[in-house]
Amino acid sequence: KVFLFWHRRDLRFEDNAGLAAALQGGQPVVPLFIFDPEILEKLENRQDARVGFIYDEVQRLTEEAQAASGTLLVRYGRPEEVFTELLRELDVAAVYTNHDYEPYAATRDQAVTKLLAQHNVPLHTYKDQVIFEKDEVQTKTGQPYKIYGPYKRAWLARLTEADYRPHPSADYLRKLACVPAGSRPTLADMGFEQSKEPIPGRQLAFRTLEQYADTRDLPARDSTSRLGLHLRFGTISIRQLVQRALEAKAEIWLSELIWRDFFMQLLWHFPYTAHESYDPKLRNIQWRNNEAEFQAWCEGRTGYPLIDAGMRQLNATGFMHNRVRMATASFLVKNLLIDWKWGEAYFAAKLLDYEMASNVGNWQWVAGTGADSQPWFRIFSPDSQLTKFDKQHAYVQQWVPEFGTSRYPRPIVEHPSTRDRALAAFRASRDGH
Ligand code: FAD
Repeated sequence: KVFLFWHRRDLRFEDNAGLAAALQGGQPVVPLFIFDPEILEKLENRQDARVGFIYDEVQRLTEEAQAASGTLLVRYGRPEEVFTELLRELDVAAVYTNHDYEPYAATRDQAVTKLLAQHNVPLHTYKDQVIFEKDEVQTKTGQPYKIYGPYKRAWLARLTEADYRPHPSADYLRKLACVPAGSRPTLADMGFEQSKEPIPGRQLAFRTLEQYADTRDLPARDSTSRLGLHLRFGTISIRQLVQRALEAKAEIWLSELIWRDFFMQLLWHFPYTAHESYDPKLRNIQWRNNEAEFQAWCEGRTGYPLIDAGMRQLNATGFMHNRVRMATASFLVKNLLIDWKWGEAYFAAKLLDYEMASNVGNWQWVAGTGADSQPWFRIFSPDSQLTKFDKQHAYVQQWVPEFGTSRYPRPIVEHPSTRDRALAAFRASRDGH
């Protein structure tokens, strides 16, 4: 008999809650990764760097398993079908996995639980990708927190050393089972090619923690951790990062990790916010949704240098600095009056660190439609954002070299009138006109 451990967004053996539990559960363990066509088919770019990254990381885990005389299984297919086959091939006593909070994941996991139950195979699940999940941080009356400030205070008040203590697996890897690996899909089999986009490293530089509070708002300094992608796919453990932040007393950086937990619990409680505004009064905004203006925004041709620099950074590298994410999102929603969901989808396609909970949460924050958001009537001016955060134009020069020459386009819209237009559209939705 064996236990299966199903890796999803936790591509590491070390400090992996569900894997550690399986390894200590009394049967040999077979780790498994499933490439799910339901997710892959939605990706338009056949060189999507995230798919190449997952592929390489699964390869690395395969080698780690081999080094411990075990086998990591890799399959391509709908999870229910893959499990049906595996239950035929192996004598499976139980399946272990870590919680995944996105709406699609919840539906998928329900279907798999049901299928396994039909074969009398239990599915054991664990919290791994956040410090606190679901209902763990609640108001005194048992409600989910909708505002970050009180959530953060309650999160910090609850935190004990046990919440970020690692789940070591190194000592237990000899419990991995050696089974026939079967045929493994290649990237080409799944219709993808390896991307040439460089992937940020997974080390957290001590300098980042030291300087973060002072420099995090300056895109030219590029001083943030760049760990978003590794948190997304679990190639780094959140517990390890929280411990490092506490040791270094890097409070502001810790707050960013708490924002991540906050948005995860928000999406789990309110899954519909992935597709509609949290605030019911702001669901009837008459968006303009002008296609040509949307294209200009996507390609970084709006004539606003900070916006164009941000979009070009995103297109070229799969990353955009947080400050500039806010400015570009605000420009799309307020100045162009384009539905935040269009922007959310574009970021989802391009960001290496794309995370549904954080992307939706932040887009709704900027739009002013979210549970916790800036008030909808507060509208950034793209020019004053530039003066505040890239005064010397160092960031703009990097991404928009023609800025300041005759080749640089004139602004596609003007700020004061589009600002007033947005205020009117939001007000009309709020007042039910
Ligand atoms: P650091 O500044 O070093 O922060 C460390 C980690 O904290 C990040 O990797 C991330 O996991 C978390 N974090 C930081 N800021 C936030 C935040 N505001 N909300 C939630 N988590 C945060 N972040 C994503 O991880 N995925 C997204 O898809 C995403 N989309 C965004 C869309 C918009 C419109 C905006 C304004 C922000 C978005 N963010 C998103 C949040 C933030 O911009 C990124 O997490 C951050 O820029 C990633 O860079 P870093 O890894 O160097 O972060």
